[in-house]
Amino acid sequence: MLPANDTALFPTRHDRDRIDAALTEALADAGERMAQGPVTPRLDLPGFRRELAAFDFSAPQPLADALGWIVAQMEHGLVHVNHPRYFGLFNPAPSFPAQCGDRVVAAFNPQLASATTSPVAVELEAHVIRAVARRAGLSDGAGGHFTTSGSEANLTGLLCALTAAHPGFAAEGARAFPGAPVFYVSQDCHNAWIKIAHQAGIGRGAVRYVATDGSGRMSAEQLARRIEQDRADGKVPVMIVATAGTTVAGMIDPLVPCLDLARDHGIWGHVDAAWGGAVIASDRFRGDLAGLERADSVTIDAHKWFATTMGCGMFLLRRPEQLGPVFQLSADFMPSAGTVVADPYVTTVQWSRRFLGLRLFLALAAAGWAGYADHVEHAIEVIELVRAQLARRGWQIRNHSHMAVLCAAPPPGSRAVRDIVQDLVAAGEAWVAPATFEGEPVVRICCTHGQTSAADVDRLVAALDRLAQADQQAADLKTADQK
Ligand SMILES: *Cc1c(COP(=O)(O)O)cnc(C)c1O
Repeated sequence: MLPANDTALFPTRHDRDRIDAALTEALADAGERMAQGPVTPRLDLPGFRRELAAFDFSAPQPLADALGWIVAQMEHGLVHVNHPRYFGLFNPAPSFPAQCGDRVVAAFNPQLASATTSPVAVELEAHVIRAVARRAGLSDGAGGHFTTSGSEANLTGLLCALTAAHPGFAAEGARAFPGAPVFYVSQDCHNAWIKIAHQAGIGRGAVRYVATDGSGRMSAEQLARRIEQDRADGKVPVMIVATAGTTVAGMIDPLVPCLDLARDHGIWGHVDAAWGGAVIASDRFRGDLAGLERADSVTIDAHKWFATTMGCGMFLLRRPEQLGPVFQLSADFMPSAGTVVADPYVTTVQWSRRFLGLRLFLALAAAGWAGYADHVEHAIEVIELVRAQLARRGWQIRNHSHMAVLCAAPPPGSRAVRDIVQDLVAAGEAWVAPATFEGEPVVRICCTHGQTSAADVDRLVAALDRLAQADQQAADLKTADQK
């Protein structure tokens, strides 16, 4: 006889409905409280560790209890990206359609390695990718796929570049090249390129940092010079990466000269638009990305400015057939073995694969490009408001970017940026980051929340300005708020 199913793992429909309803309510209540409370809750980490240690998994406990416990811990133990005064890194308050997408995917749990077993999901993702590629201005026939992250998409770009650069790379790796392969990024690029060079097996030294022009954009002249110098030294340039929307300052490298250089040298041209790529939704601002269409490949994260839940990157490329030589193999246990279908497992880094793209599909279906244009323009307008208010109070705006991120230096004689930011975050009033832009310490303020209001901007600016003054501390800020 078979042992009985474990009802904790697989509860009855009745029990699931009951737990589901309680969870939905608990999450909604926590969300409401969270938006009214501090952006950075005060966590009792030793206390949390003690409670966590009590879970030694020796005896089961009701799922409802564990769920109630973890929701409460999350409410008090995280920086809240869902808070309208989180002016932080590119982590969005996720859209509701995207959250619905997560639920649907969890329920069906399709395996996207193969189109044979998950045709609806594979077709749907390809449809969304084509729509995004078209919107980005890539030519008909462009394609690509969803990735778990911008880093995975960027890694895919580098692997394509290496494979296209030398026919021996697939079999022999970096040894195939007559000299060390190298690639070019701006000094303000995302740090993950270091890990990507390491993962690709060409070594961290393969990353060539090109100086910026004083305004946070890669200098095309310096880039040309570095390539010549490397060639003269026997190195093998394989790729130029232009960043469209730098992490610190939202600057856009000169796309046309960078991508023209890639074409002239016969090497791969990649645009890393992990965050900034979302401006393709806005007719007002998409012109900022002119030149994108010349790229061999482009990275755009849906889990940044497109506000899906975490783990939703996109790799777009002009000639999708170039993925084949990178990821091809045959596995006779796979359902499509022997067929000619380009299954995701032979065109991407991953094998087992989550249905990543449904979240962006549902959000696009519900809001349309127009809804995303509003979302992008709202963030830009919020930052314009911050910019104007800080400038009025004598702060200096260092970056000149349309994108929704600001690098602001406090007026001369103010407290150090690091202290201002630390006290602001400690008070829980708002979340911003300390950063360095063109060699100068700045407060980095980015709008990532779809519902940040003018009142939120007022509170941010008032708190920043107060904390910048030499004799102010976070404690003063709190007393001021309580009055
Ligand atoms: C966020 C970001 C990355 C890394 O993407 P992940 O999704 O965090 O892996 C790379 N490049 C740029 C420009 C980014 O903004």
